Amino acid sequence: TAPAVLSLRERAEVDGVRFILAVFVDMNGKPCAKLVPTAAADELQDGALGFAGFAAGLIGQRPQDSDLIAIPDLDSYIPIPFVREGLAIVHCDPHVNGKPWPYAPRVILKRSLAALAERGLTAKVGAEVEYFLVTKDENGKIVTADTRDDGARTCYDARGVTRMFDHLAAVSDAMNTLGWGNYANDHEDAAGQFEQNFRYDDALVTADRVVTLRYLISVLAEQRGMTATFMPKPFADRAGSGLHFHFSLWADGEPVFPDETDARGLGLSDTAYSFIGGILNHASGLQAFLAPSVNSYKRRGASTSASGATWSPKKATFGGNDRTHFIRVPDNKRLELRAGDGSANPYLAIAATVSAGIDGLEARTDPGDPCGPGESRATSVTLPQTLLHAVEALRRDRMLLDSFGTEHPVGEYFANAKEEEFLSWHNTVTDWEIQTYLTAY
Ligand code: GLU
Ligand code: MG
Ligand code: MG
Repeated sequence: TAPAVLSLRERAEVDGVRFILAVFVDMNGKPCAKLVPTAAADELQDGALGFAGFAAGLIGQRPQDSDLIAIPDLDSYIPIPFVREGLAIVHCDPHVNGKPWPYAPRVILKRSLAALAERGLTAKVGAEVEYFLVTKDENGKIVTADTRDDGARTCYDARGVTRMFDHLAAVSDAMNTLGWGNYANDHEDAAGQFEQNFRYDDALVTADRVVTLRYLISVLAEQRGMTATFMPKPFADRAGSGLHFHFSLWADGEPVFPDETDARGLGLSDTAYSFIGGILNHASGLQAFLAPSVNSYKRRGASTSASGATWSPKKATFGGNDRTHFIRVPDNKRLELRAGDGSANPYLAIAATVSAGIDGLEARTDPGDPCGPGESRATSVTLPQTLLHAVEALRRDRMLLDSFGTEHPVGEYFANAKEEEFLSWHNTVTDWEIQTYLTAY
């Protein structure tokens, strides 16, 4: 009798797949991969695909450490013929000695979702990927790929999306072929900036999709001679690229956020308020995961965008359908966390947020009443202003650090790596310094 479940090789053969991209991410969430011929898929499935964790930029890995083994998660296997005929992708979990590597972002997310499951809850997550399409001019300067797309008030510009139609349609078709339910594609606030949306799903599925989508957007842009960038603030005088996350909690297939009897006006349950309270309590430390690059902190900076807003929160506030808050509650089924940016590793960002939310559930944290439009309170925490501030906030946040598991210093390792990143930037002498200090004394 035929086996009930097809192996990876069998599925690839049925799909006419010649090669499988076995993907795992580095600390930044960048997809790394080995290209495995379908004929070797059994070995891949059986744990024969080794790679050097240090070279792949995984935290907790040194040059002398033995290979990590990439074990594919068969649920995530999917053909991507629109990138290359005969190509498929599968997300893998790095293993050591037959066990999931506790420092691997995807493993970290699974662990925090398991902590939620222990409380009878699951998280569904939506993610909004924003990015710029750029190219280099004759002087090597990064410029908007669409040379006509440079005016003011470009948000939702119908002509802008029409000029980029081929690229946007290729990405949209790809998402729909994959069954992700692409529901909108728009020109975002800044010249050269776009957003392409897919339906929310289970947290791990969405995290995998963010990684896959960034890969798809990048390679499909490259096929048209452009570079897609997700860096948070490529242009100082335009809005940045966010990665907003929408969270909802579910129990036994029912959403637990809505409660029409809510006296605070948002139609939310106590569970939702506690989850919000936990996220707000840990907002500063969370920034190390939501906004994990030096460049992240330019996105929240002075507003010089076409519309006159950064759309990126400066304080740890929550409110109703108002895009200036750290947490926006667009309706009573979900909350939108607006601090995340394009440099966030979706696995780590979601894992840390879920852990903060669980802490709120445990402590029944009361976030108080929602702030009104554009408002904050005297007690609202100002979010970290640089990566180093975020790292220091993370180091002070024992709960967040411990949420990565107490037997390995995963959080500390991340904080150290991010401090190094900050110092590497800080140690460069910039034009600003020359202009400000050269003749200042
Ligand atoms: N681009 C804005 C950001 O950096 C978000 C704009 C929007 O609300 O979609 O977060
Ligand atoms: Mg947007
Ligand atoms: Mg949004």
